[in-house]
Amino acid sequence: MFDLQKIIRENVKKLTPYSSARDEYQGTEGIFLDANENPFDTGLNRYPDPYQSALKEKISGIKNLPAAKIFLGNGSDEIIDLLIRAFCEPLLDSILIVPPTYGMYSVAASINNVPVKQCLLDENFGLQAQKMLKTAKENTKLIFLCSPNNPTGGQVENSQLEILLQGTQAIVVVDEAYIDFSEKPGALALLEKYPNLLVMQTFSKAWGLAALRVGMGFAAPEIVAVLNKIKPPYNVNTMSQRVVMQAIEKQEQYSAWVKAITEQRKVVEQVLTTLPIVEKVYPSDANFLLVKVKDAKEVYQKLAQDKIVVRDRSNVPLCKNCLRISIGTMEQNLKLLEKLKNMK
Ligand SMILES: *Cc1c(COP(=O)(O)O)cnc(C)c1O
Repeated sequence: MFDLQKIIRENVKKLTPYSSARDEYQGTEGIFLDANENPFDTGLNRYPDPYQSALKEKISGIKNLPAAKIFLGNGSDEIIDLLIRAFCEPLLDSILIVPPTYGMYSVAASINNVPVKQCLLDENFGLQAQKMLKTAKENTKLIFLCSPNNPTGGQVENSQLEILLQGTQAIVVVDEAYIDFSEKPGALALLEKYPNLLVMQTFSKAWGLAALRVGMGFAAPEIVAVLNKIKPPYNVNTMSQRVVMQAIEKQEQYSAWVKAITEQRKVVEQVLTTLPIVEKVYPSDANFLLVKVKDAKEVYQKLAQDKIVVRDRSNVPLCKNCLRISIGTMEQNLKLLEKLKNMK
């Protein structure tokens, strides 16, 4: 059985968290002389709501989850860092990652002096769940999965996830930054059943709000409480909270973008497969395509000459000669495809 208390760092367990003025008095009306703020109303003179209650209510509505299961970070990147700091004792504990994958998991671990174990995807970019469970040791506190995966684009089957969730005492973090573009069910449905699951999503991709830095973590309230205990008190600023709430109120815009981008993904994928320089287009559940070409460096440079910028992933394990290409607007995609058509 998963025991959260066993994996929280001792110093975090003992910690008396910082108590802000907004923690000590939670009413919204009154004469506020408790936080040394400027009393003249600018719309921004007050500190933000530390637990983002109004925004969480809105997110609760669209995700169909209670607010107590929601944590918000200054981007998902902050959530990754907080998880490592809450659960991994530097030098003693480890995380497990599944390359090729998002770079921030190992960077955040290294900044915290936490060792990183690796278990590669197989050559079809499939998860090797049993092998992962063998690689994870008792001191492995977090397993990071990205689904749909950056840079390969594929989504992990929930049945595979369940093998991991059942087989480990670690928290399994499923980073769903790209789930909005997928037609398959994500991992949120598994939250009820698994106390060691944390799902991350973000407003940075499909919602078009990367500049605001708002990431979501969904997990059992006990895990959310640990993150709340160690987070910077005002980690999501007031402007970001407001603008995300407005975006949720205009959800049709989000839905229209997701539709446009997934339709374009299919078009771009189809055309790419017909081009002489393209060796393989990997199936994608995200807003990008991983494309194997004959010479990735050359294609990258030729595109760059025309100011079309893609990501060369050649140096990443299993991704030799692969470019990661984000899906743009129809006009942008046409320009990209036009250039690629003329390459030999
Ligand atoms: C883009 C991306 C994110 C988003 O991070 P934010 O900090 O929320 O902007 C998270 N995970 C992966 C795998 C990504 O590619």
